[in-house]
Amino acid sequence: MELSALLRAARRAVIFTGAGISTESGIPDFRSPGGIWTKMMPVQFQDYVADPQARRLSWERRFEMEETWNKVAPNDGHKAVAWLVARGIVAHVITQNIDNLHQASGVPEDRLIELHGNTSYAKCLTCGARVEISDIRAHFDKEGDAPDCRLCGGIIKTATISFGQAMPEEEMARAQAASLEADLFLVLGSSLVVYPAAGFPLLAKRHGAKLAILNREATEQDPYADLVINGEIGPILTAAVKAL
Ligand code: NAD
Repeated sequence: MELSALLRAARRAVIFTGAGISTESGIPDFRSPGGIWTKMMPVQFQDYVADPQARRLSWERRFEMEETWNKVAPNDGHKAVAWLVARGIVAHVITQNIDNLHQASGVPEDRLIELHGNTSYAKCLTCGARVEISDIRAHFDKEGDAPDCRLCGGIIKTATISFGQAMPEEEMARAQAASLEADLFLVLGSSLVVYPAAGFPLLAKRHGAKLAILNREATEQDPYADLVINGEIGPILTAAVKAL
């Protein structure tokens, strides 16, 4: 079975993306050789909340990435996904990525579910107020740490979900509903080892969706898939879309 045939037959497809869709934009993934995990341990949520030193480390790492985040652009994979959404073939994109590239490629917010948040802005952990990274950086450069929330005094953190932090309830509910309704569930560039996110492909499959996995290397869920393609997302998805 071919990917284009599955897409042609789909009416309510869901695309589920991981860090692998953004490597062609120059953002390293976590688990490939040379990936981020091979270089640094993540700051756990509990440490971020309890320890000003952990917060400083976390912000220093975030500012080091600023140049990268500002210059990255959607690649052919993101563009093909946005095209499938615009054509109504894909109902929802569920992403584990925090890089804002699905929005940048034109996927509307109501079609996009960000399970692990977004690193392009920050939020107060207490009241949820949005704070811009540039304002935090200006304060950090002067004072040596991030500001507290101007509205409630709470701790500010990038709008991402860290290890140890609760998953966002609304996004989890939207992802569950989309997975239950899906007739095709296409995984693009995820090692499918980070739960609960990695539970959605199997949920969709159990509820009747076809499951397709496009990833450079094998994943643990390959045995359950109707189609497994090991290769690069940009060229393969572009070719599949052109064949529609
Ligand atoms: P992962 O690093 O665990 O897995 C990525 C998978 O993509 C790997 O199996 C790799 O072989 C594959 N891959 C890499 N480039 C590819 C390409 N061009 N074509 C096809 N396959 C390719 O990533 P994950 O499953 O998303 O889980 C890691 C967590 O990392 C997520 O929760 C996410 O929040 C976070 N993360 C996000 C970004 C980002 O926003 N771009 C980057 C790194 C990590």
